[in-house]
Amino acid sequence: MKTLFTGIQPTGELHMGNYFGAVKNWVMLQDSYKSYFSIVDYHAITIEYEPAEMQKKIFDLACGLIACGINPDTSRLFVQSEVPGHADLTWIFNSVTPIGELERMTQYKDKSQQHRKNINVGLLDYPVLQAADILIYKAEVVPVGEDQVQHIELTREVSRYFNRRYGDVFPEPDALLTKTPRIVGLDGSAKMSKSKGNSIALFESREEIWEKLRPAATDPARIKRTDPGTPEKCTLWSYHVLFSPEAEQKEIHEGCSTAGIGCIDCKKKLLENVMNEFDPLREKYYTLQSKPQEIRDKLDTNAQACRQAAAATIREVKEKMGLKPLWKI
Ligand code: SF4
Repeated sequence: MKTLFTGIQPTGELHMGNYFGAVKNWVMLQDSYKSYFSIVDYHAITIEYEPAEMQKKIFDLACGLIACGINPDTSRLFVQSEVPGHADLTWIFNSVTPIGELERMTQYKDKSQQHRKNINVGLLDYPVLQAADILIYKAEVVPVGEDQVQHIELTREVSRYFNRRYGDVFPEPDALLTKTPRIVGLDGSAKMSKSKGNSIALFESREEIWEKLRPAATDPARIKRTDPGTPEKCTLWSYHVLFSPEAEQKEIHEGCSTAGIGCIDCKKKLLENVMNEFDPLREKYYTLQSKPQEIRDKLDTNAQACRQAAAATIREVKEKMGLKPLWKI
């Protein structure tokens, strides 16, 4: 069985974009691989954050991932900083990675624009930590969105740089692109993201979701109820494609194109289908929230297993490098 690694930052609530763009796919893949799902808190600290909220965010994210179907008993769901080998290997990889490779990363350029007052070394080194996250478990498969493909290519290069210098240790992992295209935010202008205020969180109530869907922009050509529209020009149609049964999609497409259905009715149908998908997840999420010790125990057990797997790789790496391995952890 091949090994799969992927990570998600504890930066806020899981939203529809995370769910369709990543988590739903991970749930489908998890039993076909030896799967590692990491809550990557070391990545999250490269931008401003509130330390007092960090553990709550980690806990909420763990509950969210389990509610969506990640199985912490068969997959390794764990917190990155609880496995020190990730940081060890990052430092080792720093010594084989040319700085120019990092400076050309699109995400580094974007983030250093967004966080001009805090362009720290961690922002630049982020992809090396990512390479360490993946390679410490010798993962061969990394499910990612298109915006992360450049980082997986860098991981492959880091693997080559190390292997050339010290001998074969690491595989060259492949990116596994999710089939779902990037989920557009409610404003229709950009990728869904909590920081842009254009997201629908998975565990929001019906009322909260309706408050977001009701005023959402539709096809601008539908000024009056009697104006026919083009569903493909409407963000909400792209959500119907994700949530609504095929027969209903057909009805809505036709209704919109012929002005047979108004936008409010269309949004109400969408709300029903969103709730059909998210209601069971939300119920599970709040049940898990009432069992913090159980969740903590699962994260601890998985971190321990990850520490052992990571220590085996670090031992092998240090031996190749002429460094003294620690035999006890
Ligand atoms: S009817 Fe539906 S798909 Fe058509 S413009 Fe209105 S909200 Fe969008």
